[in-house]
Amino acid sequence: IRDSSVTGVQTCALPISGGALIVTPAIVLWVLDHTIKWSRGQSIEFGITTFFLGLVTWIVFQGGQAMTGPHYPLGFLTLSVLIWIAVRFEPRETATAILLTIGIAIWGTLRGSGPFTVSNSNESLLLLQAFMALITVTALGLSVSAREQKHTELALKELNKTLERRIQDRTSTLQSTVEQLKECDCLKNAFVGIVSHELRTPVTSIKIFAKNLFDCFDGQLNEKQQHYVSRIQYNADRLSRMLNELLDLSKIQEGVLEVHPTVLSVQEIANDLWEAFEPLAQQKSISMNMANMTHLPKVYGDRDKLYEIFANLLENAIKFTQAGGHVEIGAQVLDDLYIKVHVSDTGCGISPEHLPKIFDKFYRVTSSAVNVPGSGLGLSIAKGLAELHGGSITVESAPGQGSHFFVTLRSAA
Ligand code: ADP
Repeated sequence: IRDSSVTGVQTCALPISGGALIVTPAIVLWVLDHTIKWSRGQSIEFGITTFFLGLVTWIVFQGGQAMTGPHYPLGFLTLSVLIWIAVRFEPRETATAILLTIGIAIWGTLRGSGPFTVSNSNESLLLLQAFMALITVTALGLSVSAREQKHTELALKELNKTLERRIQDRTSTLQSTVEQLKECDCLKNAFVGIVSHELRTPVTSIKIFAKNLFDCFDGQLNEKQQHYVSRIQYNADRLSRMLNELLDLSKIQEGVLEVHPTVLSVQEIANDLWEAFEPLAQQKSISMNMANMTHLPKVYGDRDKLYEIFANLLENAIKFTQAGGHVEIGAQVLDDLYIKVHVSDTGCGISPEHLPKIFDKFYRVTSSAVNVPGSGLGLSIAKGLAELHGGSITVESAPGQGSHFFVTLRSAA
């Protein structure tokens, strides 16, 4: 009784497990994945692999007893082909291949051939079921994880493509913005250059006529008239200075400023500066000191342009220092190639947030420059001129602690 009940259970288990494990996944997967399309290459590969799988399974389960006898577990040969299909194709194709393998295996075993055929037919079926379960779980599990990996790779590729496209879009937008800005900057420079050039002639006429008026009618002009004419002269001078600065700046930025370099002594330039600025410093009760620079090597540069750099710095030093303060100009040898000239003051100083911007065009620190005349162009011109000579300008300053401007110049030695 016991044997017959076991036999019944085992015999029933074959179609139930076969249905649940093999047929159902194949049907469900074909219905769910019906949208997947194969390429021609894939179709050929699947056709060949399936044929090969069928052949191997046929030989193992239908071949002569000599090859497939129970002592040779050749049934698992099919597993290697199934693994290939699971890795290369979708679960749908894998389930179909499993169906084919197991169909041939059941048929062969029922006919009494194949590696699972033993003397007891129930035992044969039990072995067959174990084989079915093993290859189905292995191949389908592998196929599902391979599919997930493929999907992840595809999603990553897609993400990369989208990112690349976005970066390209942003880069080209940025490039066109930069081009537009450059164009704007060039136009602005050209405009400033033309306007300042054109305005210089009328301003020069105003200066000449104001001077004539002042000279010719000296004595005959009453006090009020003299005051008006001197105001005209003062403002025409300011305007003329500003126009020259604008013209210089636009030439520096367009790279068309002419320089006439010669071998120069810094001491000589400093002497000229002293003559021009010492009276101004005295007027404001500022003491001015000039270090001895005769030991310095000569520099190679344009005399007027170098003078303009230091004149701008000295003018600022005097402008932004209160009465009783101190201004100094000195220099030192930096190395074989460079010398470093400094213009220092004990004035109001510059706070750290303004320091990086003071060399920008038209930038003025409102708190310190509010009652001080100026255009905000002096330092940007000085920087441009220093760079034109292969040098640089740097600054060290703190509010209430004065400022130290350093100009590095190439020595001529
Ligand atoms: P301007 O002197 O015509 O205002 P500059 O370009 O020469 O223009 O200087 C820019 C700004 O930097 C000035 O307005 C001032 O606020 C600040 N600055 C320059 N030199 C000094 C200095 N020696 N001490 C304090 N502030 C300075």
